[in-house]
Amino acid sequence: MSWIFLAQQRVYFLVINGDLSMPYRKVGLALILATLIVFLVSLSPVVPVLESTSVVRTQMRRVDHERRADFAAGQFDGGLVLAGDADSPALTLSWPGEGSYTSPAVHLDLTASSLAAHWTLSRAPETDVAFALRTSPEGVVWSPWYEIEGEGGSALGDREKVFSTLAFVDGAHYAQYRITLSAAGPGLPSVSAVSLFAIDSTSSTPTAEVRLQLVPKGAALAAIKPVGIVSRKQWGADESLRFAAAAGPDREDIWPEEVQDVEKIVIHHTAGPNVCSSIEEYCQRQSVAAINDIYYYHSVVNGWGDIGYNSLIGYDGRIYEGRHGPGPVDGEPLEQPVVAGHALGYNQRTHGVALMGNYENEPVPDLEYDALEKLVSWLVKSKLAAGGEIDPLAFSGYRLTDGSSRPALPNIIGHRDVNDTECPGEFLYQRISHLRERIQRLIEWPPVNVELRAQPENDAISYRILVDNHEPELVKRLTVKGVVPPNAEYVDSWAGSPGQNRGNFDGSVVTWVDPDGKLSPGQDRREYVFAVRPRPGASRIDVRATAWVEFAEPAPGIAMSETASADGPIEAIAHRVAGGRVAWEGDWPVSRNVNGYYGDSYQVHSAGDGTATYTWEVDLIEAGQFEVFGWWTSAADRSTNAPYTVYARDGAHPVRVSQQSQGARWVSLGTYYFDKGPGRVRLSDDADGVVIADAVRFREKR
Ligand SMILES: [Zn+2]
Repeated sequence: MSWIFLAQQRVYFLVINGDLSMPYRKVGLALILATLIVFLVSLSPVVPVLESTSVVRTQMRRVDHERRADFAAGQFDGGLVLAGDADSPALTLSWPGEGSYTSPAVHLDLTASSLAAHWTLSRAPETDVAFALRTSPEGVVWSPWYEIEGEGGSALGDREKVFSTLAFVDGAHYAQYRITLSAAGPGLPSVSAVSLFAIDSTSSTPTAEVRLQLVPKGAALAAIKPVGIVSRKQWGADESLRFAAAAGPDREDIWPEEVQDVEKIVIHHTAGPNVCSSIEEYCQRQSVAAINDIYYYHSVVNGWGDIGYNSLIGYDGRIYEGRHGPGPVDGEPLEQPVVAGHALGYNQRTHGVALMGNYENEPVPDLEYDALEKLVSWLVKSKLAAGGEIDPLAFSGYRLTDGSSRPALPNIIGHRDVNDTECPGEFLYQRISHLRERIQRLIEWPPVNVELRAQPENDAISYRILVDNHEPELVKRLTVKGVVPPNAEYVDSWAGSPGQNRGNFDGSVVTWVDPDGKLSPGQDRREYVFAVRPRPGASRIDVRATAWVEFAEPAPGIAMSETASADGPIEAIAHRVAGGRVAWEGDWPVSRNVNGYYGDSYQVHSAGDGTATYTWEVDLIEAGQFEVFGWWTSAADRSTNAPYTVYARDGAHPVRVSQQSQGARWVSLGTYYFDKGPGRVRLSDDADGVVIADAVRFREKR
């Protein structure tokens, strides 16, 4: 008897008939799962995780622009004017066309980790209103403009009060907003009563009371609740925010919990900048601050009395409990299907999960996507699911809050499927159909699933073979094979980290023999990587690889991947330890003094005359337009005019940035055209303070 498990759903049904898979369905699933839990808990490696052991006291400052005098100091461009009386004026257009209003710089009076806005909008047909923010640590060097979207609100007669999404700003003291109105005519839109909210959950987070805790990692399979979901208590939720009065007999629950079994899962992004993506402590802190900012904004500023999402995926790839459920405070997270507030009209019988970050223009990091997969594959088979199971591939009718109904809505959807919003962003939205198929494969019987992902990295393409072994107690002997297509040459292969566990390459196929999973012990997911380079004349998109796994127990079988090609945007990162090349002139000591560095350290140089230089170089696999980013750690001793030079096709472009702010994230140095081959960025010491050389990144613009 031989099994062939093809990864693609349709093919799988053609090849497998019930006879072949039935005997193994009869093995008691509960027994298998019980063994699995024991296996995972006993063998899983542990990772340190950050936990807030006391309540986070979020601070907030509010700035209202309502009266004529409040708007007077701003700048009016195009046809935009301030109409109406002194006490309730409105920004509007004097004729069809476009115009903008830029507010004066507003001092926030705290160190903001997030900003949001409310405004009152009068809509008209064929008009558009855009609201953007920018921030500054000291009122001199400003961030780029960042557009925020309305994502909730309430009706005010014929007008509408709009609640924006949050923008995470990390350390801003000043903010400015810009409103752009456009109209094709004859109707003209107007905006009045603008309120800015600066929120800070970082300063009060008691770092001394944060401890490292060991929890099992990787123990998340279909029907097994992901281990290590960060509970409200662990992220420091101030539970008093849910009540109208802080304490005493009048304490009234602002938003009483209502329990309804889950029929559909709605996927969101939080729409803030993509601050970080790593399990490192720095990124855990950012995630904890972000969820507390959102919680405060939804509960207090918007007046909802709780966070609107049922769950969130952190920048750190952890799953965070969202809306409070009925039952004891500090109970097990996500124990009950509580109705939350994440998609207008669609909150009943749905679970809203939000990934931290903005995926309109950038792809979702695997760290977050994998966590989403774990959460959803558990949810669809959990006791929260209506009828005990949500079919991830099915469509069904849905009854809205207003009593109307909508036929044939998929069971796993993006927010934009039901409301007028960009959420969850184009890149995440495009992956939802893939997610549905992945979830189906994770919850069905075939014990081994193989997925192949292709990513251009410097001048090569890395193919990552992700092997999910659902039944590691049963399936032990794995042979993993990656096929190098004829139009590409083999560069390297590894399992674990580069240089380790090289596969055996025979001229066309890379093979790893993994008798007992020792390559990455105790994990249900194993990753094998092979890197190739397109041969002359072949474009990276023509290089289509496949992978498969042969297994020998309990019966011989094969699981195959779909073919994959690196059709996503090219991304190349250069830093000192791995990735690209770096070279420097002068004494650039290695430092780890300030947290938030890329990789394992950064290098520093004091202010000088420009003779000390640091150069990063990546090999670009194809010519194209690339946005270039720098990464540094910020501190008060840094230069405010660190001189980067980007060497593009049309010459050298100097870009000065302040390294006193925007540390520990990718900051754009502009978009340029590069030829295939080396792409180079240089930093020199010709600055008014310490310059930090950490990492640079090239990201293809399409
Ligand atoms: Zn959303």
